[in-house]
Amino acid sequence: MGRLRIGTAGIPDSAQPRTTANGVKRLAELGLEHMEIEFVRGVKMGAGTAQTIKELAEEHDISLTVHAPYYVNLNSAEPEKIEASKDRIVQAARVGAWAGAASVTFHAAYYHNDAPEEVYRRVKHHMLDMLERLDRENIAIRLSPETTGGPSQFGTLEELVRLGVDLPGVYPCVDFSHLYARSLGQFNSYQHFAQALELIRGELGAEALQAQHIHLSGIEYGPKGEKRHLPLLETELRYEEVLQALADYDVAGWLTCESPILEEDALILQEVYNRLDIT
Ligand SMILES: [Zn+2]
Repeated sequence: MGRLRIGTAGIPDSAQPRTTANGVKRLAELGLEHMEIEFVRGVKMGAGTAQTIKELAEEHDISLTVHAPYYVNLNSAEPEKIEASKDRIVQAARVGAWAGAASVTFHAAYYHNDAPEEVYRRVKHHMLDMLERLDRENIAIRLSPETTGGPSQFGTLEELVRLGVDLPGVYPCVDFSHLYARSLGQFNSYQHFAQALELIRGELGAEALQAQHIHLSGIEYGPKGEKRHLPLLETELRYEEVLQALADYDVAGWLTCESPILEEDALILQEVYNRLDIT
């Protein structure tokens, strides 16, 4: 029976002072089980801190994932920006692996005015290069490109599942809120959520649902997709049905809540999820 570990995107607000180490301890006090280490504005953690986090997370039974910097575009027109993007992702992966994190997610690219097929080809090429770098350095962490929140960004579920087929070991980070925002609210029923899980299982195998990297929060969208994250109580996204589908498909892995009220909403998700689990 699959089980999800639920937690926060970064240090919970009630951890004082706000360090990653205190975040791990605070999550354990709250009864949450996961933290995504947020390197979204740059990877500033060193090897010593990463080792401390690894030990603390093991001691408190908190699983870890990583979010790589936002400043990434594997389809930049400028080759040096592509190289810098790859360096940022690899550095997030390296430090994440030191901390014992299982998976690193990132927003892979923008389409600009290029054909999606061409963008796919480029992203795949650069992903392969990063996988080889991680392999050479023996960095054991998964690369999990994220489903993105707007139509200008590479990262539909179909594109990312295809990357997983072409690049064994790569799996999508499924951000259900982004899929909802990207579809301008269309992707918002139990049937949609179940179909997404069936696509992943069908193309990547049952094991893909046994270690899923997931994001789920309230969200508001406009004509261009994602506008901002919202508290769960203010969103129209049917997050309870997302959790129901995840439970029905026996999905296991790590679910990160990126709400503006981090741990309050993570606790709501956990409570709803635990209630479903019993039935
Ligand atoms: Zn993200």
